[in-house]
Amino acid sequence: MVQIKTPEQIAKMREAGLVVAAIHAATREAAVPGTSTRDLDQVARKVIAEAGATSNFLGYGGFPATICTSVNEVVVHGIPDDETVLKDGDVISIDCGAIVDGWHGDAAYTAFVGTGHAPELIELSRVTEESMWAGIAAMRNGNRLVDVSRAIETYIRRQPRPATGKYGIIEDYGGHGIGTEMHMDPHLLNYVSRKRGKGPKLVPGFCLAIEPMVSLGTARTEVLEDQWTVITTDGSWSSHWEHSVALTEDGPLVLTAPDGGRAKLAQLGVTAAPDPLA
Ligand code: MG
Ligand code: MG
Repeated sequence: MVQIKTPEQIAKMREAGLVVAAIHAATREAAVPGTSTRDLDQVARKVIAEAGATSNFLGYGGFPATICTSVNEVVVHGIPDDETVLKDGDVISIDCGAIVDGWHGDAAYTAFVGTGHAPELIELSRVTEESMWAGIAAMRNGNRLVDVSRAIETYIRRQPRPATGKYGIIEDYGGHGIGTEMHMDPHLLNYVSRKRGKGPKLVPGFCLAIEPMVSLGTARTEVLEDQWTVITTDGSWSSHWEHSVALTEDGPLVLTAPDGGRAKLAQLGVTAAPDPLA
């Protein structure tokens, strides 16, 4: 069953989404050489507390922090600690969320620490982010869930191959419905699977967290002994981008983007829905 939201409920989710956007802005500024991933978690905690929101990551299945910090070959679910100190040349993906009045937001981004990154790493992040936007642009009334998966996969497959061979679209994790819980039905694949059918129809009130994860090598992952940290099996570096998106009568509203996705969607020929809080 897919939870369909009213416009009032989407406005609440927008509030949560803006807290997530604020965590992104603050952690982005703090992700410099010499900062530990624990420091970044403290930055996130402060933003959440000051907003009067709560964390949906802290305590989730026993997760011990408010953000996931995934450095280099770590794909997702890295745990902040004192030992992981960012250094020049690192690539970090930060994933976090917030709850406002029971409604959830969830979003992630990839950032470059310091300078001197190889062009294929910069391109990897660009391709991953753009594939997310292609998926968001497919959040159209009358489309099916598979149309979002297809838009993400097609975007990635149409890019020039990296020097490492090809992009690995991570298959073990994907997007999800979001609302009164962080993870709800339906699961959203980042590729088209013939086994899965077309999925539900996208209608106003349908909310999805769209989150492609792409590596410079394999699509396969394994979980480390800490039971959380997900790495690529070949050690290739990866990128992760995510936004929470609501479909409305007037099109998609990117709940976790400061401008609701307006500028980026306009480039793709899509008009973002009006911001209910504006
Ligand atoms: Mg997330
Ligand atoms: Mg998510």
